[in-house]
Amino acid sequence: MGSAIIAVCECGYTAESAIGGGMATFKEICYFPAYCEVCLELVEANLLAKPVECPVCMGTQVIPYDNLKLIGEIGEEEIESWNMEEDLGRELVLTDGTYFCPSCEEFKLRFKPGMLCWD
Ligand SMILES: [Zn+2]
Ligand SMILES: [Zn+2]
Repeated sequence: MGSAIIAVCECGYTAESAIGGGMATFKEICYFPAYCEVCLELVEANLLAKPVECPVCMGTQVIPYDNLKLIGEIGEEEIESWNMEEDLGRELVLTDGTYFCPSCEEFKLRFKPGMLCWD
């Protein structure tokens, strides 16, 4: 099962991303929001790709949003988590804390659960 999340910032920036993958593709695809240092955008990256690429510029300067570089404050509540211990050696977690906003470049971005679900 995968799900969608929405990123919203005070400055008016919004972005959407999927998290996880479908059952059939589960060993090859695990989507997670990431920041592309070339596009300066929040993109949906497949963290199981080697190397991890930006879907827009195909560059590899992408940082997953569970990286401390992109986290302002870790929230108390988990918005979404995806267990990737086996493949990536860690659990991917997004909290209700604050994250780096690609638009205003301040740590004011917040994630909210989206509607879309698939399996
Ligand atoms: Zn890019
Ligand atoms: Zn912003």
